[in-house]
Amino acid sequence: MSAAFDTVIIGAGNAGVSLAARLRNDGRHNIALVDPNPVHRYRPMLNYAAAGTARMDRYERSMAQVVPDGVQLLPHAATKIDPAGRTVTLGSRTAADSGPTLSYDNLVLCPGLTPRWDAIPGLDEAYVNGWAMSAHVPEYAGRACAALVRVREGTVVFAVPPEPASCGGTVLKALFQACDHWQREGVLDRIDVHLATPFSGILGLEPTDARLRPYITRYGITVHEQTHVSAVDHHARTVRLDGSDTAQLSTREISNVNLAYVTPLSRAPQFVAESGLGDGGDAGLIEVDPVTLRHTRAESVWGLGDAATVDTRPSGGALRPQVAVVADDLRTGGPATPYDGYTIIPIAVSRDRLMLAEHDRDGRPAPSVRGIDLTRPRRITHLFDRYVQPVIYFRKLLRGRV
Ligand SMILES: Cc1cc2nc3c(=O)[nH]c(=O)nc-3n(C[C@H](O)[C@H](O)[C@H](O)COP(=O)(O)OP(=O)(O)OC[C@H]3O[C@@H](n4cnc5c(N)ncnc54)[C@H](O)[C@@H]3O)c2cc1C
Repeated sequence: MSAAFDTVIIGAGNAGVSLAARLRNDGRHNIALVDPNPVHRYRPMLNYAAAGTARMDRYERSMAQVVPDGVQLLPHAATKIDPAGRTVTLGSRTAADSGPTLSYDNLVLCPGLTPRWDAIPGLDEAYVNGWAMSAHVPEYAGRACAALVRVREGTVVFAVPPEPASCGGTVLKALFQACDHWQREGVLDRIDVHLATPFSGILGLEPTDARLRPYITRYGITVHEQTHVSAVDHHARTVRLDGSDTAQLSTREISNVNLAYVTPLSRAPQFVAESGLGDGGDAGLIEVDPVTLRHTRAESVWGLGDAATVDTRPSGGALRPQVAVVADDLRTGGPATPYDGYTIIPIAVSRDRLMLAEHDRDGRPAPSVRGIDLTRPRRITHLFDRYVQPVIYFRKLLRGRV
């Protein structure tokens, strides 16, 4: 089978569905959205599910429910792209079937990130044996909650994942909510809490780090800055940390670990590099111009979202401007509005207060609301993030209306 489309979008996650809806609102037709996953998930809720304050099934929809009217959903995985011939080969659904080939005028890649289990030796074994987990691995978000709540003493390690990571700083949401829970239960004094971060300070962002330091002190957390988890040993129950830059080459080992909240490193799906569209790095990201989001070597290809070289920390909030840039470029065929790298990290500092770290590509604060300091942890911001954002996501964002 083969079919021709004006626009093919690979990946029906936050980026792909929002862009497809935006293009439909702009009056464009003949759009295909390719994704083998039957379920679309509001991923920011995974951190609340891990903290035990949300049920994830309420924030999942069938893919058919979120695909905009007039857009054709093709439930296959993209396996190969020929940018010169402008075709995409899809995986077959049965062994007897050869996968369809699509031809396109414009191709947009937003297949998100996928875990590199082999990059941290021993981590998969610790996951299988139930003492390592992360909300970033959705199958384990529910287990993370049960495990965090069960801890009454001993040593726990949380790690902010090195980039590229999908809003990696939100690991702090799980960390602070867990510490708040342990404090309320009266057991925090018996728990030795460690945080490994690849950044200097906490997230390497001021004034965010200044806001977070009092909570690090309040919960008695030991911070290992500029480090990353390099190995986990299931039998010895250790987590090894290595320095993340040349100035910090030291290795240290944390032993007798009860719980390791460690996210696997991430990469773009393999087909990107295999099609010659990767940036050549370990993560094989889609090599786009971070300002226009157009591929640097294939002029009818764009990339956005977690898997593209957008040169900022990826997040769902970063997609609002990214979708606008790509939609404008496809509409006018001319130079797009520049993307300044705006992104956001919502951080719960307790079970009922949250702050927003909004910044641009250079780490400069980029507040989206004037006149109210959202870097200050507030109850209202927590309520907005927990209850209002999901409604905006399903009713507005995925319908191309934000
Ligand atoms: C635990 C967690 C918490 C987060 N919290 C926040 C938050 O509080 N605020 C915030 O702004 N952001 C948050 N994010 C980040 C946000 O969810 C992501 O930035 C956003 O979902 C990225 O969108 P995307 O479309 O690039 O990728 P995804 O949403 O991951 O979608 C990618 C899609 O591509 C599909 N795909 C993969 N391979 C193929 C293939 N070969 N062919 C076809 N389709 C394919 C996948 O099935 C998937 O549906 C969080 C993320 C996680 C994991």
